Amino acid sequence: MKALSIRNLKKTYASGLVAVKGIDLEVEEGDFFALLGPNGAGKSTTIGIICSLVNATSGEIKIFDADLRKQTQLAKSYIGLVPQEINFNQFETVFNIVINQAGYYGMPRKEALKQTEYCLKLMQLWDKKDTVSRRLSGGMKRRVMIARAMVHKPRLLILDEPTAGVDIEIRRSMWETLQEVNQQGTTIILTTHYLEEAETLCRNIAIINQGEIVEDTDMQGLLARLDEAHYVCDLKVALSEVPVISGYHIERDNDLQLSVSVSKSVSLNDLFKGLSEAGIEVLSLKNKSNRLEQLFLDLIHQ
Ligand code: ADP
Repeated sequence: MKALSIRNLKKTYASGLVAVKGIDLEVEEGDFFALLGPNGAGKSTTIGIICSLVNATSGEIKIFDADLRKQTQLAKSYIGLVPQEINFNQFETVFNIVINQAGYYGMPRKEALKQTEYCLKLMQLWDKKDTVSRRLSGGMKRRVMIARAMVHKPRLLILDEPTAGVDIEIRRSMWETLQEVNQQGTTIILTTHYLEEAETLCRNIAIINQGEIVEDTDMQGLLARLDEAHYVCDLKVALSEVPVISGYHIERDNDLQLSVSVSKSVSLNDLFKGLSEAGIEVLSLKNKSNRLEQLFLDLIHQ
């Protein structure tokens, strides 16, 4: 089953700014999915729409079997959202923050008590249950946010840049926690602009840039493609057939030009040798810019 399917989603803000330009996206149940993009790409807008916090201009969204527009309450009940900013009352105890959220979802008291205990234990916060939350460390506060988002047993947990501005130790411990939550069956969608985070946690990934999905693929395939170098090869004599040289992916652009993709770990000398053995004379070999790689560089250098 699909945990999320989005069709042709658009969002234009009142200012006239088009934040989301007709995106399609699907996330399988059980997946750990990354929505990666630079600042201003449209990640939070998309998440806001999925969580019914922002109105879409047009498009269709299904959360599991619920149509977001027609069955809003049911759709919302499937989702647990961990927003970017810590937004609980810092003068409340950890226990109350979590159990009050269960009450908000209308959970009977007995079940709420059980669920609160379960979530706080899962987040290793049970021994802090009576602590006033402002006394917690930054990492613990983040875990309270996750416990609160999970108390009503959401099937889909959405985290909006959960580790933005969080130091590396806390980030790593959050990664472990999230992996455990996913292993216990909860589908997770995570927005981030850290490639490392997406790489560590996620099986599938979509990259959003300027309101458009520019990649939607599995993590392994994406990393393999990032590891490729691309060249344009100008030839001296026109060529009608594409040569086959093992280790290289070669395509014919026109009679006098080939495009070559090769893993960065493979030597170019072998390419020249192979071409020359095939009787092909090369005039020049130029580096072709890789849009995907450039996008990643932009992302990770923010
Ligand atoms: P991201 O989460 O990827 O950083 P956002 O979804 O927050 O991106 O923003 C996408 C674009 O929409 C940005 O250009 C941002 O300035 C704009 N935007 C976001 N929220 C609003 C709003 N409430 N009103 C007007 N423009 C907004």
